Amino acid sequence: MFASDLDTTIEFLKGVGPKRAEILQKELGIYTYAQLLNHYPFRYIDRTRFYKINELNPELPFVQVLGRITSKETIGEKHKKRIVAKFTDDTGTIELVWFQSLKWVDEHVMRGKVYIAFGKPTVFNGSYSISHPELENYPRVATATGNLTLQPVYNSTEKLKKFNLDSKGIQKLQSYIIDQYLSEVKETMPAYVLEKYKLVNRREAILNIHFPKDVISLQHAERRLKFEELFFIQLQLLSNKQFRELKFKGQVFGTVGEKVNTFYKEILPFALTGAQKRVIKEIRTDTQRGVQMNRLVQGDVGSGKTVVALMSMLLANDNGFQACMMAPTEILARQHYHSIVSLLNDDLVKVAILTGNSTKKERVILHQQLESGEIDILVGTHALIEDKVIFKSLGLVVIDEQHRFGVEQRAKLWRKNSIPPHILVMTATPIPRTLAMTLYGDLDVSMIDELPVGRKPIETKHLFEGQRLRMFGFMKTEIAKGRQVYVVYPLIKESEKLDLLHLEAGIEQMRYQFPLPDFQISIVHGKMLNKDKQYEMQRFIDGKTQIMVATTVIEVGVNVPNASVMIIENAERFGLSQLHQLRGRVGRGAEQSYCILMSGQKLSKEGKVRLETMVRTNNGFEISEIDLELRGPGDLSGTQQSGVLDLKLANLVKDQQILYEARNTVIEIFQEDPTLTLPKNAMLKRFIDKKARGIALDKIS
Ligand code: ADP
Ligand code: MG
Repeated sequence: MFASDLDTTIEFLKGVGPKRAEILQKELGIYTYAQLLNHYPFRYIDRTRFYKINELNPELPFVQVLGRITSKETIGEKHKKRIVAKFTDDTGTIELVWFQSLKWVDEHVMRGKVYIAFGKPTVFNGSYSISHPELENYPRVATATGNLTLQPVYNSTEKLKKFNLDSKGIQKLQSYIIDQYLSEVKETMPAYVLEKYKLVNRREAILNIHFPKDVISLQHAERRLKFEELFFIQLQLLSNKQFRELKFKGQVFGTVGEKVNTFYKEILPFALTGAQKRVIKEIRTDTQRGVQMNRLVQGDVGSGKTVVALMSMLLANDNGFQACMMAPTEILARQHYHSIVSLLNDDLVKVAILTGNSTKKERVILHQQLESGEIDILVGTHALIEDKVIFKSLGLVVIDEQHRFGVEQRAKLWRKNSIPPHILVMTATPIPRTLAMTLYGDLDVSMIDELPVGRKPIETKHLFEGQRLRMFGFMKTEIAKGRQVYVVYPLIKESEKLDLLHLEAGIEQMRYQFPLPDFQISIVHGKMLNKDKQYEMQRFIDGKTQIMVATTVIEVGVNVPNASVMIIENAERFGLSQLHQLRGRVGRGAEQSYCILMSGQKLSKEGKVRLETMVRTNNGFEISEIDLELRGPGDLSGTQQSGVLDLKLANLVKDQQILYEARNTVIEIFQEDPTLTLPKNAMLKRFIDKKARGIALDKIS
C-alpha cells in the first residue's frame, strides 16, 4: 500500500513537537497520525444538557451551565494569584476560578457577557465553583469539529496531563488531524460487506467516533468500528485455520475397528449421553478428512470427557496409530491413567504412563516400547514433550486442561511427526460462546453440555461466619454416614503469609471439633513436598481420613467419589469459575452431594452476585456467562496471555450479535473465495499478507 500522510510521525502534527511526541509514544504507544486517530474516546459528555446552578451537586462529573459573568477580579499574590469571576443564572451564583493563563483570561473573559461554562463543579463551604472552566460564547457558532453536542472524553495519564495533553488537549490534536487529513482515511472492508450489514464507511465512522454529529451518527460509527474490529480478528483466526488445513495433512482414521467396537459394545458399563455421542461423531468426521483436526472439547466437570477421549484414542489405535494424553499435573496424569485403565479391559490395548517421577529404568523401557509401537496409549505430563520420547506413529494427542499448555508446547508435539497428529483439547472450564469464538476461533469447538443421567445435582448453601457451628454439625452428620469432606482455603500469592495463618488456624479449629482417634484429617497445600502431598492425598482416597483440608491444589485432579461435601472457606475471595471447579470435586458418586460456601458478613456487590449464582445454578456454561459479565474477558481464567482480547471498542458481552455477524461474514468469504483471490477481496488479502509479515492493522488502513 502507498504511504499516506496518516503515516506521518506524530511529532510533526500541529501542536505536538518532539517532547510531546515522546510522551505520546511512551504513554499511549502512539507514533503516527493514524495511531492517534485510532485512540478513540472512551465516553462522551452530553453537551445539549444545561444545568441550572441550583441543580449542581458534588456527584456530577462535567456539567455545562449557561450564565452571565457579573464580576471579575484578580486576587492573591505571586503563586497564589488567581482570577475569580462570579457567574450567575436565574437560580443562583457560582465562582469560576483561574490559576493559570491569567493574562489571557483577563483580556478575553468579559464582564457582563453571557457564556456557556463547562467543567467539574466542586463544593466548598456549601458554595460551588468550577476551576479552569472552558468558556464558550453563546449562542454557539458551528464548526466542523467544534460545535459539539457530544464531547469526546479521551483516556489520558498524569504525564500526558503535565504536557497539556489531557482529554481536551487530545481532542484538539484529533481535530487538527481530522480537519486536514480525513480524506486520507482509507476503507478497510469490502463494499459488499458494508452494504450487506448497512455499515457506514470508515471515513464517516472515524469522524463520528471522535466528533459525533448526534447520537445516531455515534451509534453508526461505533457499530461500524466494532464490526471492523471483530471482523479482522475473525479474518485472522479463520485464515490461520484455512492455512493450516491447506498446509498440514492429517492422518486418516478411515475405519472404526475392533478396539472401538469391543469397547463400546462389550466393555463400556453405561450408555453414552447424547452430547458424548455427538462429540464423538464430530471427532470421527474430523479425523476422516485428511486434514489435521484441531478441536476443543468443553464440558463441565463430570460431563464425561474421559470416555470421549478414550474412544478417540481407541479410534487412532484401530487405524494403526498411537495416541497420547497430556495432563497439566502429575496427580491428574495418574488419575487419568487409572480411570483409563479401569475403564478398559486388560488386554484391549496397552496403556502406559510417563511423568517427571518415572525412573530412568522405567523410561528406557518406555522409550523402547513407544518406538516399537508396543504401547498404544501413553498418558503423562510435560515429560511427554521431552525430546527423547519418540513414537512409532503418533496419530492423536489429547490435551487436558487447555490453558495450562502454551501454544509453543503444543507445537513441540507436532514436530514429532512429519504428518502432525490430530489434536483434541479438553477443558473443564466452560467458557461463553463469544469468548470461545474469539479465543479459540481457529479451533473447532465441541460442547458436552449434558450430564450423565441419574446424577443428583449438588446442593449449594451459603453460610456466614456466624453459622459456623451449623456447618460443623452438618459435617459430623455426613461423616457419620460414612462420607468424606473437603475443606478448601484460599492461598493467594499476594496474601500468602496471612492465608497460611488462616489455614493453620482453620486446621487447629478442625482438630478441636474433630478429635483423634475417631477423626482423621489429611492436610494438603502447595507449600508441601510433592511426596508428602501425595501421601496425604492417598490416605484420603483410600478412605483412611474423613476430612481433607487443602488449598486450591485440589482444584484439578482428585476424584474421590465417596467425598460428598465441599466446604469453601472465604468463598467470597474466589472467582466464579474457580468456585465452580472446586464444587465439581464432589457429586461424583451415588450419594447426594453438598457444597457450603462460607463467607464473612460483609460482601462486595460482586462477591454477592458470585455466591448467589453458585447457589442458584450448577450449569458451568451459565456460570461462565455471568463470570464474563462480571469481570470482562481479560480476567477470565485461561485468557490472560491472549492478546486477542485487547478489544478497543467491541464488548464480548454486549456485542454478541455483531460478533456473530462478523464471524459468519468471514466464514462466507472463505467459502466463496478460500484463497482471497477475487478482486472484491483484494484488501482482505493484503491485510492477511501484511499480518503474516507482522504489520499492525492501523498501519494498513
Ligand atoms: P470429566 O472428565 O468430564 O470431568 P469424567 O470423564 O471423569 O468427567 O466422568 C465422570 C464420571 O462419570 C466417571 O466416573 C465416568 O465413568 C462417568 N460417566 C461418564 N460418562 C457417563 C455416562 N454416559 N453415563 C454414566 N456415567 C458416565
Ligand atoms: Mg476429567
